[in-house]
Order: sequence, then C-alpha cells, then structure tokens
Amino acid sequence: MLVAIDGPVGAGKSTVARAVAQHLGFTYLDTGAMYRCVALAAIEDRAADHPRPLERLHIDFEGERVLLDHMDVSDAIRTPDVSNEASRVAADPVVREQLVDRQRRLTARGDWVAEGRDIGTVVRPDAELKVFLTAADEERAARRAAQTGRSVEEELADLRERDERDRTRDASPLRRADDAVEVDTTGLPFDEVVRRIAALVAERRA
Ligand code: C5P
Repeated sequence: MLVAIDGPVGAGKSTVARAVAQHLGFTYLDTGAMYRCVALAAIEDRAADHPRPLERLHIDFEGERVLLDHMDVSDAIRTPDVSNEASRVAADPVVREQLVDRQRRLTARGDWVAEGRDIGTVVRPDAELKVFLTAADEERAARRAAQTGRSVEEELADLRERDERDRTRDASPLRRADDAVEVDTTGLPFDEVVRRIAALVAERRA
C-alpha cells in the first residue's frame, strides 16, 4: 500500500508522514530530502568547480539519516541556502525525471508513506490514499521559525517564494490531485492530524 502526502512548505508533511508511517508500520520516504541532496551536491560542486553527473549521485536513507555519496548530510541539507537551491533544482525536468524514477522503483514493493509535492499527481497516481496537507501561511511560517530560530517574517517571505516557484513551474507543479483528501492542519493538534490520516488508511483498507 502507498499513502501519498503532498502539500506546500511547512504544512507539517514530514512530521505527520513520519508519525503515520510509524503508526502503521510502513516505511517513510522523504522525497524532498532527495531534491535537497541534488541541491547540496550542486552547491558543493560549484564551489569545487567539479560537477558530479546526476545519475552517479548516491542518495540513501539509513533510518532517520540521509546519505549523499555515503556521507551523512542529514543536517547539511536543512540550511536555508539548500532549501532555496532545492526548489530551483526541482524545477529542472531532467532532475525530476531521474528522482521520480528512483522514487517509483523504491516504492514498487512494500508499504510506504511517501511525502513531497507530486507523489499523488506524478510519482504514484495509483496511490491507495492521497492526502493534500495545508495550513494557513502564518501558521506554517511560525512552525518553521520554531524549528530554525529565524523570525516568522523571514520564514513567511521564504516559504511564499518557494511555494510560488513550486506552484508555477512547468515540470510537475505543486497541486492537489483531483482524488486527494485535503487536510487543513491550521489549529489542529498534531495527534488529531495523524489520527485522521490513520482513519482514512483504515477506511481504504476495509
Ligand atoms: O519538502 P522539502 O521542503 O524538503 O522539499 C525541498 C524542495 O524540493 C521543495 O521546495 C520543492 O521545490 C522540492 N520538492 C519537489 N517535489 C517533491 C519534493 C520536494 O519539487 N516531491
């Protein structure tokens, strides 16, 4: 079974997807981490003036950790610079084709909760359950500010810029799949969000 969770920056996708996966005993896939790895490699390669071909980048997950060419980059991929570069590289159709192909192969067997922007629309339109997670802009910015220590205003400007880029790009823009269930997490306790999605999964399995 595959549960697809898509939505804009800061809607709570990764914490919710991780908790839903744990609750169901499914494997969690953070596709944003893959775009972040490509972005980090691009930044590093620009500095070193030594581009690595995309198809040779090793991106692996080991539990909660993310490995790029066998190095633990779990923290390095979360900086604001990498976030911005990730939404730029994610607009490149060549990058998308490569990563979507890897995501399809990874999720072909077993039970998954995959999270990103285009899981329900492009990567796995056959997902048994599609959730589109949203929240008010100010709440999304406040959540991110609590994680990063930056100001809410900075986070708000940043997430609006990234959302705009994700929504208006030609290659797989961020949008809700027609058959996705929209869950607005504004003001909802985290446990309630997880409970609602777990209930939707139980419904689909019945
Ligand atoms: O979800 P996260 O913020 O980690 O994703 C980083 C960037 O990767 C996003 O801003 C988005 O541009 C891109 N992304 C994407 N498609 C996905 C996952 C992430 O375009 N499935």
